[in-house]
Amino acid sequence: MPPIMPSGQSTKKKKIPYVIATGFTTAFLGDERSLREFIIGDKIQKDLERKGRNSVLYLINDSYDPLNYRQLRVGVNKNERLLSRFERYCGRPISEIPDPFDCHENYSQHFAQALIKRLHSLDIYPVMIDSYHAYQKGYYADFISTTFENYNRIQELISQRFPNFSIKNLFRIQCLECLCIDATHIFQVSGRDIRFGCERCNRSNMLHSIDEVRGKLSWKLDCAARWNLYGIDLETFSKAHMAELGSFAISRFLSQEFYGGKVPAIVRYGDVMIDKELSLKLLEILPPQIFKALFATNRHRDLKLTKAFVENFCQQYLVRPGLSYIDYIRQELPKQAIHEKNHIGSYLDSHSLNKYPPEGMIDDQSLLTYGNRFSRIYYQREYKICWPGAELISSTDQQTALQARQVILYALLVRENHKIDDQKQDSIHELIRAYLHSEKLSPQLFQYLRRILGQADGPNIATLLAILPRDYLNIIQAIIGYYYAGQPGQEKWGEKIDQRLAQYSSLVKN
Ligand SMILES: [Zn+2]
Ligand SMILES: [Zn+2]
Repeated sequence: MPPIMPSGQSTKKKKIPYVIATGFTTAFLGDERSLREFIIGDKIQKDLERKGRNSVLYLINDSYDPLNYRQLRVGVNKNERLLSRFERYCGRPISEIPDPFDCHENYSQHFAQALIKRLHSLDIYPVMIDSYHAYQKGYYADFISTTFENYNRIQELISQRFPNFSIKNLFRIQCLECLCIDATHIFQVSGRDIRFGCERCNRSNMLHSIDEVRGKLSWKLDCAARWNLYGIDLETFSKAHMAELGSFAISRFLSQEFYGGKVPAIVRYGDVMIDKELSLKLLEILPPQIFKALFATNRHRDLKLTKAFVENFCQQYLVRPGLSYIDYIRQELPKQAIHEKNHIGSYLDSHSLNKYPPEGMIDDQSLLTYGNRFSRIYYQREYKICWPGAELISSTDQQTALQARQVILYALLVRENHKIDDQKQDSIHELIRAYLHSEKLSPQLFQYLRRILGQADGPNIATLLAILPRDYLNIIQAIIGYYYAGQPGQEKWGEKIDQRLAQYSSLVKN
């Protein structure tokens, strides 16, 4: 069922932002799975903006929630020292626990900032709302009063309306002794008196005023309260959350009966499963545009991210007209990664780099960076400029080495001559190719060139010589020359070329 979208708005109403809410508990950061919620929320928000509707994306951080041991383990990367130091904080609100890494105000803030950073890297900029802060500031006060004033009635109405369901605790009260909120139970609410106990301390307590209560509304009540507190128009819900005994139906009932009646449209989304080998890698190997498209497709369905599934998706995703991401990685990346125009110190104008592509299109540099990481993970191949060691330089006989130098110098010569007109890229390649064919060069020479240029899997030799940065090729030929310098009878190869190069240079200058 599509979400209920606003239609036929009056001008006045159009100015009030349409509020889209997503949520998280920053007890840890976790892998890519949790990002689906925000990607879907963000997509809805951007679609509305495109249609001219003022809208805002909230990220409600349940920072009043207690920490459990499983979350702590993920949070501190199973670090034994931190686990034993922080274990004692389990059960307490994550905003009241110190930052295990000592860089933020508290435990919750550490992971909240990490999440925001991750979302920003995906070009998603939600407004983060800190629940703990909201409770501390008293924003929930009216909802808390309403809840305690109607405590028994709410419980009765819920069990009448939802026969298979009862809420034991409408409020997660904070223990006065151990400050935990995960093991307390409210036994009785009568007038202004609240009797409760804590399993952790094995103690009961009595409060005589709602003002003394610390803690937060139970999940379903908290949900209903914040729809009204923040005027939420649309909320994203995972299938698992929805299934939880009609979570939404109960919250809707509570909102309508007690908290003000605001009920948002709900956008459900399917669960995400991810192969271990891809976990925490996807963010590195997919440019944000592809990552988001992958997570937003068929949002109602569960997403099973296997290696094959992701590769297949990338085979369908076009990064340039007629060119899929996989095609780019297989055909373009080996050239782009070593191409002079993509390296600092380039002779060519940097305008050939597609730095500011049209909206939605991935820029050249991102394609290069993400594509290379993808290639490393999927095909165990990475493309980059490599420097040969002395071992490689000396790995052939003298004649082959000096011929290789001659070939490189020829390529440099052609490119020097053509640099005045960079439309001639194809003819540079053709000239070099023709030269290689005409010179009856030995197979050893080609192998040697591949070795010293470090391009075992890369493009063919003519292409390599046509696109590798000139500074780089110049240094390589100089190293060969230096290595074989003074060897009798061979010097003139280099000299001859050097003279021709000098002639060409003066020709071009004039
Ligand atoms: Zn920190
Ligand atoms: Zn306690």
